[in-house]
Order: sequence, then C-alpha cells, then structure tokens
Amino acid sequence: MAPTAGKGALPNDTDSMDLVSQTRSLRRKVTFWRRAAWMILGAAAVFLIVFWNRGETRRRECRASLQHYLELAQSAKLATQRADLIELHWNQFEPPTVGLSPMHFDLIVRNWGTLPKAGERIPLAICRDRHITTLSIGRHLLYATEKGLAITWLDEEAAQEYVEDARKDNRTH
Ligand SMILES: [Zn+2]
Repeated sequence: MAPTAGKGALPNDTDSMDLVSQTRSLRRKVTFWRRAAWMILGAAAVFLIVFWNRGETRRRECRASLQHYLELAQSAKLATQRADLIELHWNQFEPPTVGLSPMHFDLIVRNWGTLPKAGERIPLAICRDRHITTLSIGRHLLYATEKGLAITWLDEEAAQEYVEDARKDNRTH
C-alpha cells in the first residue's frame, strides 16, 4: 500500500521546500559565479605573466643579438664599406644560436660613413618591429659615438624618429 498519511500537509511542505531549494540553488549560483570570477582573474594573471615573460625574453634576445651583430660589424669594418654593400653584408651576418635574425634590424645606411664628433650619437640601426612588454613598448637603437658603437632602449615614441629615418633610407638604397 502506498503511504497516504500527512498528505494534507504536503502543499505547505512543498512551499517551504521550494524556498529552501531556491535559496540553495541561488547560493550555488553565487558560489559558482564567484569561483568563475576568481578563475577568470587567475587566468588573466597567468596570461599577463606569460605575455610579459615572452615580451621580456624577446627583448633580451634582441639586445643580445644586436650586441652580436655590433661585434661582427666592428670586426668586418662595416662602416668603411661602400654604402650599397653595408645592408647586404649586415643581412648575411650569421645569427646567434638563440636570437633574432639580422633582418630584424633596419639600417640607416647613409649614417654609417659619418664620423661622430665628441658627444655626438649617430643612429645606425633600429628594430624593424617594436617589442611589447607589459611595462613598456619600444625598440633597440644601435648608434655610433666617438668611442665606438653602442646600444640603447628607446620607448616607441622616441624610436619613431629613427624608424622613419630607416624607412626613408630604404627608399634611397
Ligand atoms: Zn628588437
């Protein structure tokens, strides 16, 4: 026999059960969305760290590569070569084991033959593509001083002048 006792009290019980289960389901939803929000925040943090790390690694590799090409340029006496051969020769430099190709750097060829005066900085090459890290966006610049070749990091705004110089230079060589 199916139990029939307490059947009259059933509607009230169902109402309060509904309320309890609604509250429970609401609480579950809140917990779910709270967890989801933390997971999204966590994922965003991981993404930012990975992004920063990749940008930083590439920026470091770029600087090391430019240092490597700077040394090759000095030993090959690149500055004394014919202007139309400088970029050709540069692009054929052997890249470092880990690092960027010589093509990553855009040369300002017409400046290579200029002898810097005391205190003067003559721009010679700049990154063809900017480097994006979470803290800064910019490029490396290779320049000549009276004492020799050197490298500096410029933020994107300061780099624009040299990027433009290198582009103009490409049209004449
Ligand atoms: Zn670079």
